[in-house]
Amino acid sequence: MSELLDRHRAVMPNWMPVYYGDDALEIVSGSGRRVTAADGRTYLDFFGGVLTTMIGYDVAEISDAVRRQIGTGVAHTSTLYLIRQQVELAEKIARLSGIPDARVFFTNSGTEANESALLMATNVRRSNQILAIKNSYHGRTFGTMAITGHRTWSSSSLSPFTVNWLASADRLRGRMARLSDADLIEAAVDDLREVLATVTAGDVAALIAEPIQGVGGFVAGPDGLLGAYRKVLGEHGILLIADEVQTGWGRTGDHFWGYQAHDVVPDLITFAKGIGNGFALGGVVGSATVMNAVPAISFSTFGGNPISAAAGNAVLDYVLDHDLQGNARRVGTILLDGLRALDHAIVGQVRGRGLMIGIEFVRPGTTEPDPGATLRVFDLCRAGGLLVGKGGLHGNVLRIGPPLTLTEEEAREGLTVLADAIAVADGESV
Ligand code: PLP
Repeated sequence: MSELLDRHRAVMPNWMPVYYGDDALEIVSGSGRRVTAADGRTYLDFFGGVLTTMIGYDVAEISDAVRRQIGTGVAHTSTLYLIRQQVELAEKIARLSGIPDARVFFTNSGTEANESALLMATNVRRSNQILAIKNSYHGRTFGTMAITGHRTWSSSSLSPFTVNWLASADRLRGRMARLSDADLIEAAVDDLREVLATVTAGDVAALIAEPIQGVGGFVAGPDGLLGAYRKVLGEHGILLIADEVQTGWGRTGDHFWGYQAHDVVPDLITFAKGIGNGFALGGVVGSATVMNAVPAISFSTFGGNPISAAAGNAVLDYVLDHDLQGNARRVGTILLDGLRALDHAIVGQVRGRGLMIGIEFVRPGTTEPDPGATLRVFDLCRAGGLLVGKGGLHGNVLRIGPPLTLTEEEAREGLTVLADAIAVADGESV
């Protein structure tokens, strides 16, 4: 155990997970898609700090933009004064959001972004009823934990909202494996109608959904599902909040926002993680009618501060100028195809879109989750010089979410490590 891990454990709360247990890593430098740890080893990073280092480490365009801002001597002025970088970023995000007459509010994290969206939705609708989806993750505050449908991360029993839950479309698929996407959507919409008719009076503020569930194990419902939900919600004036904290900025390859696979434009979109490429930046974008409805005066001291906003502008420009969405699609396809070609009894499913790929592990010949095999592959990947993530309701999904700048060569290098690790774990399981 390292001296730093000892000190970490002595001073941090015990509910903060650290990967690799007694062998925890301290990352001391990074370049491109690689990080170097205090143990002297360099790793290819297929998780990017939970999809946050979206365009890689030590990117000159980002560092230069931040250095320029620091060079002005102004790291913070509060939002009581105009911040050019912030206005410019808001204009870009409003334009890209797909929402007409959009307004943007900046925060420091995804949690605060969702908390703000909930504040706006409940104010507009004069209702504190929220619909959330099982197996979701939305953050770590009182409000966002209450709408997180994942026992390990949730505190729904202490909810400040009345929360009602919809089945995760993936769970529906599990139970009704032979259903087509259209039938699945019909089943999910029936579930929504039933929840609205039985446990609410229809006066719900909003439904919040991740277009692809992140912490839940990269679980996606069928394309078009959110649009189908939206039709029913619209009959009641209920808002749709798309939590794009993991799925935004071209990550899914086919679309810039995850919601675009669903034939719908949400009322509110929340974002964070990748847009700062490591600098603390999040926010919410929605139509003026919804965004302006909060009666209280409110601001965030640090939300959209000059340094984070400078980083955000540089990141967004980089994503667009280098067509990182197209790269996510191309390189993601190589990864998906390569992983799907592996034939191992412990692999239950390989799923994903763009550079958001999940490998679900099961006990051979069953659909029973196997967190043990998952952990084994995870550890073997690290031994092979590859960092990946874990997740899923049962801890049996390896999550791959590398920087969107990942090259084909790096994808193939990572694939080799993954293939070897899975083969070893598969051999051990029989
Ligand atoms: N929403 C989703 C979908 C997330 O994955 C996360 C974090 O993992 C959050 C919200 C919370 O974001 P943050 O950790 O920046 O508060």
